[in-house]
Amino acid sequence: MAYDFDLFVIGAGSGGVRAARFAAGFGAKVAVAESRYLGGTCVNVGCVPKKLLVYGAHVADELEQAAGFGWTLEEGHFDWGTLIANKNREIERLNGIYRNLLVNSGVTLLQGHARITGAHEVEVEGQCYSVEHILIATGGWPQVPDIPGKELAITSNEAFYLKELPRRVLVVGGGYIAVEFAGIFQGLGADTTLLYRGDLFLRGFDGSVRTHLKEELQKRGLDLQFNADIQRIDQQADGSLKATLKDGRELVADCVFYATGRRPMLDNLGLENTGVELDDRGFIRVDDQYQTTEPTIIAIGDVIGRVQLTPVALAEGMAVARRLFKPEQYRPVDYQNIPTAVFSQPPIGTVGLTEEQALEAGHKVQIFESRFRAMKLTLTDIQEKTLMKLVVDAETDKVLGCHMVGPDAGEIIQGLGVALKAGATKQQFDETIGVHPTAAEEFVTMRTATR
Ligand code: FAD
Ligand code: NDP
Repeated sequence: MAYDFDLFVIGAGSGGVRAARFAAGFGAKVAVAESRYLGGTCVNVGCVPKKLLVYGAHVADELEQAAGFGWTLEEGHFDWGTLIANKNREIERLNGIYRNLLVNSGVTLLQGHARITGAHEVEVEGQCYSVEHILIATGGWPQVPDIPGKELAITSNEAFYLKELPRRVLVVGGGYIAVEFAGIFQGLGADTTLLYRGDLFLRGFDGSVRTHLKEELQKRGLDLQFNADIQRIDQQADGSLKATLKDGRELVADCVFYATGRRPMLDNLGLENTGVELDDRGFIRVDDQYQTTEPTIIAIGDVIGRVQLTPVALAEGMAVARRLFKPEQYRPVDYQNIPTAVFSQPPIGTVGLTEEQALEAGHKVQIFESRFRAMKLTLTDIQEKTLMKLVVDAETDKVLGCHMVGPDAGEIIQGLGVALKAGATKQQFDETIGVHPTAAEEFVTMRTATR
């Protein structure tokens, strides 16, 4: 049977665009439907605007350090409106680039909400299309716990479009987004408190990294409150928000920002018309080739809830395009040793096993850990410390994990990701000549095991 399209992609985000472009490049007839914004979460309300705001906040550090290098500056003034307007202009430029990428690769772009009406049929704005394969790449959406007053809180979606920088912010959560936005708000001058329900934030990250970041954030004056959670939020007569905590304490702020995880975006997607099943967390259930329980439907990216990172969605999109239309080039996605960064201030870079994971997996580990004051700070009064840590298998000498907290951690960890993928040993790290003088060279000069 001739279908309107060989592949119908729902969602023009990281994974959907990658799959669509490559499938079209392999000769398939492809359509993409997008209901909101081209480029998806990452480009519009995720990685890209977030990183621009992080850069903005980081300027405060540079200004603070300037005097040590002989610069006398007039007192600086920060204007949130300018930063947001410039950010918006850049995002619009990127939206245009995404449009061109799709159109120039021969993909049919449909603007509107897509709803699956059958195993081989999708409807967009009242128009039905017959399709051979459907790819669900609809991403995720912020999830706020159901507490009284939750409608008074904002999430990352709204934070990028706030009219003004709030004077006092409560950030709720202890994951990537909470830690990153606490740094943005505080760096730009808001009085910021981070509330996390557990003992220590960033669950799943290496223990030394979590403790080190906690100490560094506290040095910067961020108010960290662990074992703390909000029970209700009330608006006060002066417009401010009163958060009542579960332990009875009351905190007042101008903005309550929730970053408590993301749910899969399945709203009005029409899954009830298909045999697609969800897993026990509510994400789309797929096998190791992203095949759902409905034979014609595939799903990738945040909506499958595996690893919610853009480069992972890209890799999954590529794998799907190849499997369907260029099988001789198909390679499964390797989920081992995914490097990642948390763009906190200072940032975290990490790849491979944490010390805790290595021990749990039964490795006999050797730990190499170094804490030092970065050279750039020696002409300033700033006492921030950088942390670098290697987790090594004591029996095979293989480096199992590299972890860092400090300036440029994300940039530095990318190269170490290649080393870990290649199976590098500690001896090979030691035999690698350092780049001097850098912070990164510490990763190849840590000679004595600390544990
Ligand atoms: P998305 O990029 O979310 O795209 C899904 C698209 O589908 C959206 O455009 C949506 O409008 C569309 N859509 C949904 N339903 C329909 C429908 N029915 N019809 C038509 N269109 C539909 N990752 C990193 O690697 N690094 C970072 O620094 C980073 N920072 C982040 C910061 C924030 C604040 C957030 C929220 C996320 C961040 N992420 C980061 C995660 C990253 O953005 C996601 O992992 C990635 O965007 C997932 O891609 P995706 O293709 O699965 O979905
Ligand atoms: P995360 O899953 O990373 O963190 C959610 C946090 O919220 C956890 O600390 C969790 O606590 C807490 N939490 C969950 N439910 C509740 C609740 N009901 N009440 C109070 N606290 C709660 O989600 P994020 O929203 O931070 O980010 C989503 C994903 O986006 C990330 O996991 C990451 O994959 C991606 N991302 C990547 C970035 C990057 O690469 N730099 C940046 C931003 C996002 P607990 O640990 O106790 O469960």
